[in-house]
Amino acid sequence: MGLEILGRLNAKTQPYQVASSTFGSLSMSDIAAATKGLGSVEYEYIRARYLKDQAAMIRLRNAIFDNLFKDIKKPAYRIGLSLSLVVDCCGDNICQDCDGRGEVTKDNVKAECSTCSGTGRVYISGRKIAATCGMDHANFLRRYQKKYNNARIRLESIGRKAERMVLDNLKD
Ligand SMILES: [Zn+2]
Repeated sequence: MGLEILGRLNAKTQPYQVASSTFGSLSMSDIAAATKGLGSVEYEYIRARYLKDQAAMIRLRNAIFDNLFKDIKKPAYRIGLSLSLVVDCCGDNICQDCDGRGEVTKDNVKAECSTCSGTGRVYISGRKIAATCGMDHANFLRRYQKKYNNARIRLESIGRKAERMVLDNLKD
């Protein structure tokens, strides 16, 4: 099994097929080998982001609800922020300018995509997050934006660690 498998673990080529519990040409044992050694949150992240596994997205949302936003009292805010964060990091909001690759090629030179700053994704607007939570945009900006951004940095770092582990697993 080689590195090309991670390249195949993406939404466009591997839609989740509920009936057969497989992901396109990837078997369950391919996925098990690729995700060996991952912690539970890292595992759900990979399944949610690369396999578009809806159940994993819900488990990831619950883990975020229980951990990253545990100090937020109001359940509607807490669930709205958790849901937004999963979509932000694992949803289909890929950058149109670089097609999610994070880099663009200009005159045969590869450069970081300026639209998404190399992340390959466009973030959900504060206005939309506020709406998901059922709160005023002003309230989001004043009391929750910083907390949300910090949580996103945390989840992105978990995600990068998970991706490195998958790449390592695919080396042999
Ligand atoms: Zn981009």
